[in-house]
Amino acid sequence: MSKQMSSLIATARRRCRRLSAAMMHYSGKLLGFPRLPFHCPACERDIHQWVGFDRGAGGGQSNFEPEKRLCPLCRSFERTRHFALYLEQQGVLKSKPRMLHFAPEKSLAPRLRTALGDRYVTTDLFMSGVDRKEDITQMTFADASFDFIYCSNVLEHVTEDAAAMSELYRVLAPGGVAIVQVPIRGSKTYEDDSITDPRERFKHFGQGDHVRYYGEDIDERLERAGFSVAPFYMLDELTLSEADILRMNLGKRELIHKCEKLK
Ligand SMILES: [Zn+2]
Repeated sequence: MSKQMSSLIATARRRCRRLSAAMMHYSGKLLGFPRLPFHCPACERDIHQWVGFDRGAGGGQSNFEPEKRLCPLCRSFERTRHFALYLEQQGVLKSKPRMLHFAPEKSLAPRLRTALGDRYVTTDLFMSGVDRKEDITQMTFADASFDFIYCSNVLEHVTEDAAAMSELYRVLAPGGVAIVQVPIRGSKTYEDDSITDPRERFKHFGQGDHVRYYGEDIDERLERAGFSVAPFYMLDELTLSEADILRMNLGKRELIHKCEKLK
């Protein structure tokens, strides 16, 4: 089968899964189920169930992960739901920070836009609909343009990550905070520039367009860029009952890095 044909089939399968999840949700509402058992804090809607997702190995391959982690309506993973709660519980938006949001999650961006107006800027090199198409390794923003940066699941796609981290530091204002999140496995970062085939990258780095698997030593790279770095687990920062964690499907523990640019 040609690459193009298998890519079309993978896309069609993905769309069917999304459609069936959405139909399940809305048919449940129409049938008048008494109370939806789950809640997504990213899109702030109640739902019937969580759904699996496609890990996108590239090369037309579909790698469907059946573990039910996604909101069927806004496609949020745990990390987005964690971050939505973090913003709320830490009162981040109250100070009206100038905020830069990389690869903006569709479930969060409208709410942040409403809260911050022109002080909120979305960016990505490839996504459509963002405010600015920027290369994270050489951005066109002036120094110290932002007070808060959210950069989730971006750096593992970037070959020149030292340049990207330096740029994050440069555009952050003194006293500002960047929340950096990447997939982490083990203690040491694993990368190999010679691995470029998407299927090989999937095997080595967990996804067809990832260029490395970071380890816990990512903090050393961030510190080299100038940041004061504090790793933490979002679940330790949030005030949640066991029932909240189950209802909002928040159980996955993912290491986050709070990167401060000291004054
Ligand atoms: Zn949602």
